[in-house]
Amino acid sequence: MRWIFAAIVCLAPGVAHAGWQAGLAKADITPTKSMWMAGYAARTSPSEGVEQPLYAKALVLADDNGTQLAIVTLDLIGIPRWLREDLATDVEAKYGITPSHLFLNASHTHCGPELREPLDSDTVNSAERTVQAREYSQELYAKLVDVIGRARSDLQPARVGYSHARCGFAMNRRLPTDKGYQNSPHPDGPVDHVVPVLRIASEDDKTVRGLVFGYACHNTTLGFQKFCGDYAGYAQEYLEADHPGVQAMFVLGCGGDQNPYPRRTLELAQRHGRSLATAVEATLETPFIPLGGTLRGTIAEVALPYGPIPTRDEFTARANGTNGLEAQHARRMLKRLDEETTLSTSYPYLVQVLRLGDQLTLVGLSGEVVVDYALRLQHELKDGLSNGERLWVAGYSNDVFGYIPSARVLSEGGYEPYSSMLYGTRPAPFAPEAEDVIVGKVHELRRSLGAKD
Ligand SMILES: [Zn+2]
Repeated sequence: MRWIFAAIVCLAPGVAHAGWQAGLAKADITPTKSMWMAGYAARTSPSEGVEQPLYAKALVLADDNGTQLAIVTLDLIGIPRWLREDLATDVEAKYGITPSHLFLNASHTHCGPELREPLDSDTVNSAERTVQAREYSQELYAKLVDVIGRARSDLQPARVGYSHARCGFAMNRRLPTDKGYQNSPHPDGPVDHVVPVLRIASEDDKTVRGLVFGYACHNTTLGFQKFCGDYAGYAQEYLEADHPGVQAMFVLGCGGDQNPYPRRTLELAQRHGRSLATAVEATLETPFIPLGGTLRGTIAEVALPYGPIPTRDEFTARANGTNGLEAQHARRMLKRLDEETTLSTSYPYLVQVLRLGDQLTLVGLSGEVVVDYALRLQHELKDGLSNGERLWVAGYSNDVFGYIPSARVLSEGGYEPYSSMLYGTRPAPFAPEAEDVIVGKVHELRRSLGAKD
């Protein structure tokens, strides 16, 4: 049935024959020794064993013109900007895949290694953690270069299609209370339950080789001391176990303000993983939209504006204040003011748009993007969607440095727009205009790749 559907579409006038090639490869990136873990500042000791291996996985696609596109997914907390930049340079030099056609996405598991060196010398075990993060990152880097190369060596004629299903365990986690917005389940808050799926099959469409799937939900069922991919790791593990020969790859969506509920036990992480894997399997019962034609990609940096930046006097007052987190952030900013005299007024933010033929647009936004972005873009492009183009919006792509609130979330306050910033190096929360800057850039880039409005 699926084959007949695909054949009819391919014979339709004006639809290019697919002619794509696809290659897949994966690498085990589980730390080989105990080290500090990422995601929860409250941790006071390093890892104690492995519950589930962590992987980096690559899909390389090539079209008739030889244009290549690499999708790389990581069972890690995030992607440091330097890693993205260095990798893009190396991958272009070695394999001819341009930076605009390299897409990286992190699952944001909070049971993976710490990649970022501690920002403050008074952080617990700062020196040890700095060495560990550097050593691990270097090993990771070599594995990423290698896994992309192996996926490229695996290129063979393929049929690639898109479909989607839905899955329900993600819930909005910003609950309005009389003390402001609290991190608790909010059943009436916005969610995005779509599970987009790319199906990579053999040229005759009979053998599935890869399933790339997305979901918009923090990968934080767990917070224990063992390495584990959390629900996303289990969804991938179950799909690969139940479909031998398939490489399953998870792409995190705009889940900045979404949590898996219920949570906090290994069994729940496995249950959510099973739910998500089942949703992916449900798509295999549906007709996939065949993708073909040209692979196009573009990536741009926009200046994402901060709100008002405190003066030196204001930072000094905070540094001497009673709020410990705020004081630590203020000391960081004062140190930077001593070194550089001014603080940046914007963040150099990466927006990537990939078009897999005319039928699917994949948007890669950096940072911990809240769900409003996916919902707004889907809404604004609904005319495009009615023309047959599908839109997949991923967060946590290419550079994961902090939260990206919408104007609405900024106006509400709370952890994502405000207090989370105090753990990092930015001087102030983003300005409400940031949302329009990002959305405007997505539209501009999409049009620059020939998409219709
Ligand atoms: Zn997060």
